[in-house]
Amino acid sequence: MRRLRSILALTFSTAAADELRERLEQAIARPYEELAVATFHSFCATLLRDEALEAGIDPFATPVTPADRLAMLIEHIGELTLREHDLRGNPAALLGSFIGRIDRLKDEMITAADYAAWAEGLPEGDDAERSRAAREREFAALYADHERLLARAGTLDFGDLQLRAFALLRDRPHVRARVAARYAHVLVDEFQDTNFAQGLLLSLLVAEHGNVTVVGDDDQAIYRFRGASTKNLRDFQDEHADATVVRLERSWRSGQRILDAAHAVVAPNADRIDKQLSGEPGGEVRFWSAVNERAQAQAVARDAERLIAHEGVAPEEIAVLVRSVRNEGQAVAVALEERAVPHRIVGAASFFLRAEVRDLLAWLRLLVDPTDAGAVVRALARPPIELRAIDIARCTQIARRRKLDMVSALVAATESPQLPPEARERILEFLKLHRSAASAVDTMRPDLFVHRLIDRLGLRRQQLFAAQANVVERLRNLAQFGELASQYVLREPQATPREFARSIAAVAEAGLRVEEARATGRGGAVQVLTMHAAKGLEFDHVFVLGLQASRMPGTRRRQLEPIPDELLKESVPTDSRAAHIAETRRLLHVAMTRARHGLVLAHAAHGPTGAAQPPSEFVEEARAAIGGEWEHQEEELFGPAETLHATYQALRDELLEGVPRVGGRLRELRLDTDLDIAHAVVRYLELIKVGALIDRAGSQRVEEALPELNTRLLQAATAEQREIFETSRLDEYLLDSERDASRRTRVIAAREEPSLEPFLPRRGEGLVLSASDIDTYRTCPLKYKFARVFRIPQEPTLNQRFGILVHQVLERYHQSGGAGTLPEMLELLEHGWRRGGFSDSDEELQLRAKATASLTRYHERFATEPAQPVWFERSFTFRLGPHTLRGRVDRVDRLPDGGYELIDYKTGRPKTAAQLKDDVQLSIYAIGAREAWQLDAAAQAYYYVLDDAKVPVARGAAELDWIRDTVLEVGEGILGQGFEPTPSYAACSMCDFRIVCPAAER
Ligand code: SF4
Repeated sequence: MRRLRSILALTFSTAAADELRERLEQAIARPYEELAVATFHSFCATLLRDEALEAGIDPFATPVTPADRLAMLIEHIGELTLREHDLRGNPAALLGSFIGRIDRLKDEMITAADYAAWAEGLPEGDDAERSRAAREREFAALYADHERLLARAGTLDFGDLQLRAFALLRDRPHVRARVAARYAHVLVDEFQDTNFAQGLLLSLLVAEHGNVTVVGDDDQAIYRFRGASTKNLRDFQDEHADATVVRLERSWRSGQRILDAAHAVVAPNADRIDKQLSGEPGGEVRFWSAVNERAQAQAVARDAERLIAHEGVAPEEIAVLVRSVRNEGQAVAVALEERAVPHRIVGAASFFLRAEVRDLLAWLRLLVDPTDAGAVVRALARPPIELRAIDIARCTQIARRRKLDMVSALVAATESPQLPPEARERILEFLKLHRSAASAVDTMRPDLFVHRLIDRLGLRRQQLFAAQANVVERLRNLAQFGELASQYVLREPQATPREFARSIAAVAEAGLRVEEARATGRGGAVQVLTMHAAKGLEFDHVFVLGLQASRMPGTRRRQLEPIPDELLKESVPTDSRAAHIAETRRLLHVAMTRARHGLVLAHAAHGPTGAAQPPSEFVEEARAAIGGEWEHQEEELFGPAETLHATYQALRDELLEGVPRVGGRLRELRLDTDLDIAHAVVRYLELIKVGALIDRAGSQRVEEALPELNTRLLQAATAEQREIFETSRLDEYLLDSERDASRRTRVIAAREEPSLEPFLPRRGEGLVLSASDIDTYRTCPLKYKFARVFRIPQEPTLNQRFGILVHQVLERYHQSGGAGTLPEMLELLEHGWRRGGFSDSDEELQLRAKATASLTRYHERFATEPAQPVWFERSFTFRLGPHTLRGRVDRVDRLPDGGYELIDYKTGRPKTAAQLKDDVQLSIYAIGAREAWQLDAAAQAYYYVLDDAKVPVARGAAELDWIRDTVLEVGEGILGQGFEPTPSYAACSMCDFRIVCPAAER
């Protein structure tokens, strides 16, 4: 158990960390305290928070995302100098590119001061040099401003997390020793892609004990700076000369043919670590030459349909990998849609392109600027207003003619006789919403404003009961918008919604990527994603598209602002065409090795203008290595729903082509001429048959119509023709197509059925559950669905925010394992208060006085109590039936008699022991302590901090059985998607979802 806790596993991306954690949780059946699986960034964030005092940072600081940083720069654009850079009318886009550049510099540990010193020394011999030097100095100044603004806000970006964690471990040997003692073993996955800063951090992390295991594959390095694919692995061997090298050359994923083809693609790369993987025999690799992009997409859809319908492959085990989801991805989506193949485009639209997010943005923009006609028109056209296009046109005409802003024009339009009454009603509804929102745009807190706006517009309500998978994603995106507003408030506690709206609109304009909501699973759908995004994933069947020479390797995109060699603290290859080719080969290799059983490499032989596009040489190499043949894929002019028309056309073409040939042979003395004629006649009979099927009564199925048609047609046939007619495979083909069509209809009908499966917190066969999940579900299953499946953000009340703050103060106070002084505790309260966006209203000042008094009492009680606190914030995880239960106990005390007491802090009003009769939380904690820490708790209690009241909750063995049954029952209910509401006055009056809940309506 101890060993499990002492292993730290670091991975490259959040998705990879989630995947690794999931696999470990499934593999580890025994209970444990905590699994330390993290990305480098999240590990650094936790380390700095735990060691905030040593690191000299604000313990309440939350790291900021690139979008937050862009918003911050935009808010202070007046303080920045941007004379030497071309703004192209869009400063947000330029600032967005600076943020990417600063991130790259921080990955290479190049500080603002380093950059400024380098820029100062640039030569200024001629005009070109002078202009370059001026531009670089301006960027250096901006980099410094960026750092200054972050420091002023008391926060860190992701690059800083690494740099500050590195400095902490380098400069504080006792902290380094503490961390080394806690994590006695460090594992790093995807080591080939860790950046320079992460590499140095890792060296310090393991400096004390040297217990480090890294896993890497230079053939899969697609993120390392300047394509330095082997550098990390070679440096590691140099640094740890005694390291044991275990060659992992057995692939547990891909069939041998797939591995051989993929190997042929990377084998020509110079300086690769030589290896040849072996796998299970088999693996199918096909090469498709499609006439154009549409044919390529259609062929994928056809084959995916075949795999699902006839080979029993689960849709989520099929992936379509493209270079760009916006272009090729959309073509594939259209073709899959035509065949009703369920699919999910991953990362298609960045967050700000999602319809629901744009609706919200439109409202924010028009509230700030009523002349923003585009935003007003969108708001009018979309729910809840949904004004008809013709009426919108009338309103814009009024605005133009009378030179009014759009909102004023709408006021004028309500007087216009041109507008029908229904349109007038809709406009009045818009104006009502506008008035109520506009009245708060300069006063309310931005996050509350966004929550209210979402509710008022009914954006959530419109989606809520249509429970399809993408509806849940939409709800989560709305929730994320609320999150962005909350983060903004943390940065700018005094800002108004107007300022937030300006800032978020600029971030959206800059096109910075904000993570959109993702389903947790693959959701029973074919996955369409980029080759880069597929890294770390695996599927039964993979289609890799767009493999024409012009794109693979394609031309090298030169970095506009490369990092100067003089500033680099590591030696990496130069940025050359050869490096680009090698990296592209690795990218294709990564894409190919995602496949377990089937791989298709496809290219579109003609571009949109009809120009020929030869296949990539890499694909040719793969084809030569395994002796594959090109298969040609034509474009289908008729969609899959038009099989009869398509067949009719194909038969007709064949017949017309055959007529002169057969006619010509009539004059020759050949033995098989009669047979040719018989075949031609049968083609003709079949053409009549398909024509008759096209014209049959709409309700009659092909299967029902065929026997009679065949009988009648055969009456006109000779014995020889009859034989050919009866052995033709046409009927079989038509019947198969009909079966596929009815399957599609069933799939489409089934889509109406809500399935929330991908959004349930699955772990293996069961769920991941916490005590509060169980409590919520027991209170009302619909409430659980709102809170945990849809994840509708709850607008925290003042009391809840205050409760969270007190909790955080206690957590930080005990962070180092002991207790500090009262002034330290009150200083933490002061910090948190400022960051929490509290104001100076009487009510809030009263709460603060209450917090000061209760924390002072807590401190006294803590110092004088006979019980000895031994752990704070201690985690547990254990299995109960198929479910994984997780939790964290606020405090564990050793009692004078040697027993242990589990304590959970509460900030609400104290409950009596009788009111806590059905409480599950402390009982789950007791089981967790027993299972994960082998600690039998003698007592459990809630400590109501604000009232300084401790309420013990006693539980006997029989009651623990009851808990077990309760957990299993709740788990079964959630897995069965039993979300029927159980309204009651007690539950609904306290429920944050009353406003959206139909069950709460009278
Ligand atoms: S309002 Fe009542 S019925 Fe609706 S989700 Fe909340 S507790 Fe359940």
